[in-house]
Amino acid sequence: MATIESAIGLNRVSHFIGGTVFESKSNRAGTVWNPATGAPRAFVDFASAEEVDHAVAVAAKAFPSWRATSLSKRSEILFRMRELVHVNRRKIAELLTLEHGKTLPDAMGEVARGLENIEFACGIPNLLKGGFSEQASAGVDVYQIRQPLGVVAGITPFNFPAMVPMWMFANAIACGNTFILKPSEKDPSVSVLLAELMREAGVPDGVFNVVQGDQVAVNRLLEHPEIKAISFVGSTAVAKMIYETGTRIGKRVQALGGAKNHMLVLPDADIGMAADAAVSAAYGSAGERCMAISVLVAVGNVAEPVIEAIRQRMAKIQVGPGLEEGNEMGPLITREHRDRVSSYVANAPKEGASVLVDGRGNVRASGEGFFLGASLLDHVKPGMRCYDDEIFGPVLSVVRVNTYEEALNMINANAYGNGVAIFTRDGGAARQFQFDVNAGMVGINVPIPVPVSYYSFGGWKASLFGDLHMYGPEGVQFYTRAKVVTSRWPDPATSKVDLGFPQVR
Ligand code: NAD
Repeated sequence: MATIESAIGLNRVSHFIGGTVFESKSNRAGTVWNPATGAPRAFVDFASAEEVDHAVAVAAKAFPSWRATSLSKRSEILFRMRELVHVNRRKIAELLTLEHGKTLPDAMGEVARGLENIEFACGIPNLLKGGFSEQASAGVDVYQIRQPLGVVAGITPFNFPAMVPMWMFANAIACGNTFILKPSEKDPSVSVLLAELMREAGVPDGVFNVVQGDQVAVNRLLEHPEIKAISFVGSTAVAKMIYETGTRIGKRVQALGGAKNHMLVLPDADIGMAADAAVSAAYGSAGERCMAISVLVAVGNVAEPVIEAIRQRMAKIQVGPGLEEGNEMGPLITREHRDRVSSYVANAPKEGASVLVDGRGNVRASGEGFFLGASLLDHVKPGMRCYDDEIFGPVLSVVRVNTYEEALNMINANAYGNGVAIFTRDGGAARQFQFDVNAGMVGINVPIPVPVSYYSFGGWKASLFGDLHMYGPEGVQFYTRAKVVTSRWPDPATSKVDLGFPQVR
């Protein structure tokens, strides 16, 4: 961990509380690297528990007037927010590339997918419409309304520093909650830029706050009684801990975890299309996507032609700094992570797999950046670490099976169930797969089936702890609770004492 003294000379990334940048007094900080150069570019404040308490107090103070703000006014502010993010797409994307490493076009794509969630939330007056039943009993009407929870928090991972926060805060705020974001300490600058844009859009002070930090901040958010709900996206071990701790303390929690996404290729698949999809989905963003394809399951004799087509495409992938035009794959997030990913390639032969393409020697970019080329492993099987673990880097494993049933059983037995894809020309086979497979998001000839913002995102099994998926209609449900009102207007003619249980017939 860096201290303030050791970080002198670097940019400082601080909290954003109550509508303004708030510098920490904790004297704890982390280093933010530029993964393309391997040099530190900033240091980020790590909040103390007291600073988290301060942010929560500010958010709690802002809640009553924000929840009382009309739906039209909230929608108007979200429309302005939408415009500001749209106008600043490139600025956000550049900052993102600097700290995350992904290529600029990929970062632009991330911002665009995040923006869709703000666009969805602009429709909040429609989304919060309740139901009304006239004459549920004689002269009695029943209706349901949905109300915000209060102060809610979002804890986000390094791999989507703009999009994942937007998955959360757009709906949370639209529903009338106030929000505290604890972004990843590895690429924290985008969170402050988003907070500034929100202030400019007219989001009142205290409605959107950012607390930078590590476990100290997360643990305090988890235990703080004023935080009513927590949305988390990150690795499975932390997601499980967040879910178990948060729910034990009485909070509503949705915690999205890691993934091992399979792409099933049937013998009738279009080989060129399947290879294009596998290469794009396995190596895009250097494999650091929770919806990246990390296992290709080849059924029957499709293995040889699809592997050959993938190898041809891999040879053309251009690796280099994300801000330089033409590069298709940037560096990994940290040196340690790059070395961890490399170790899976190094160990694969010892486990009985073969390394068809070794990305460790295939990096055109020079210098000290955290680069690693794309790797392809063959004859991988369950039980090998390269199959069982989420590698989260540019490594694609091929598993060969004889039948669809064998493939399905393996996919369903996997601990994770985030995304999955099938490549085939057979509509009946695809429909059967959609029916059979235990995963939350299924692609049919679509390798990364991230739902559009008017559906909801979430995996099954160890990829999600909680009941509600993130964003879209389930996001609105998550950030509100229902209240049902039963009403009768005074009618002295029918009023009488009746100690029996209320009847409706
Ligand atoms: P991570 O779990 O290390 O960190 C996520 C967040 O939790 C960060 O804000 C971090 O500061 C905090 N954190 C980390 N360790 C903690 C601890 N011990 N106690 C409390 N808080 C802690 O994840 P990451 O490395 O930033 O992101 C990559 C992971 O996120 C991958 O596993 C990926 O699959 C997953 N992910 C999942 C989805 C999804 O939708 N399911 C989306 C994106 C990323």
